[in-house]
Amino acid sequence: ANPIKDVENEVKEWARIKKTEIDDLRKQEKFRRDFLSNISHEFKTPLFAIQGYIEALQDDGFDDREMAEQFLKKASKNVDRLSYLIKDLDEISKLESGEIPINYSKFKINDLIKEVFESLEFKARDHNIKLIFKQKYDDGIYVNADREKIRQVLVNLIDNSFKYGKEGGSTSVSLFTLHDQVLVEVTDDGLGIEEKNLPRLFERFFRTDTSRSRQIGGSGLGLAIVKHIVEAHQQNINVRSTEGVGSTFGFTLQKVKQALPFPNIPVLKS
Ligand code: ADP
Repeated sequence: ANPIKDVENEVKEWARIKKTEIDDLRKQEKFRRDFLSNISHEFKTPLFAIQGYIEALQDDGFDDREMAEQFLKKASKNVDRLSYLIKDLDEISKLESGEIPINYSKFKINDLIKEVFESLEFKARDHNIKLIFKQKYDDGIYVNADREKIRQVLVNLIDNSFKYGKEGGSTSVSLFTLHDQVLVEVTDDGLGIEEKNLPRLFERFFRTDTSRSRQIGGSGLGLAIVKHIVEAHQQNINVRSTEGVGSTFGFTLQKVKQALPFPNIPVLKS
């Protein structure tokens, strides 16, 4: 035994741990700084727009009633945008702080998809997009997950398919069973996504140039929320897309193994 060597090693180990701690803190700090600068940027755009419309109204917009109505409508749209932003921010910060835990229950994913379709029926009609459920499993598939959070995942993905879809197009939801998982896919035939943007899609506040330039409303947080929820379930999410053709977002869920009707008869694997 060499006590000096031991102490030396202990000090080295301590220094190594401290260094990782400091690196982690630095990373967190940078993350916080980026996050704040993103938030302020996202708030500024609609706020400046609202300010612009108010000023225009004050200057001479009132003389022309039609124009005044236009300005108010646009200002109101930007107020909506701010509200969405606040709602999504609240959601993501609660999710990330672990304030809202994952509440597992066993339910039929088919039923949830039907419910979500019903709740989005009018919106789909507004966008002139047909909603299709490629229902292959008539009895339904049981999953073990947080029903309300998975509802949110489906709503966010389908809502995006409306925003970035094409008039007269369609959005379909399909289910596939894997060994002990279920794969849920939401497919649209809309704008599609450039390949270079795919890796960044799930980042907070990331929006493609197309969605910005087309001024499609959104906070840039929808997919970050989706990813967070899916990963909190220890499941996976992915996307594939072809520009001008459409996109498919897929996420997995834990499948509940159903009891076999005759437990002693071996099941042939397909
Ligand atoms: P938001 O829709 O509020 O901008 P999201 O996080 O939901 O934010 O999506 C991030 C970006 O990913 C969108 O701005 C858009 O550019 C792109 N995107 C998301 N879903 C689709 C889709 N179905 N088709 C094409 N682009 C999409």
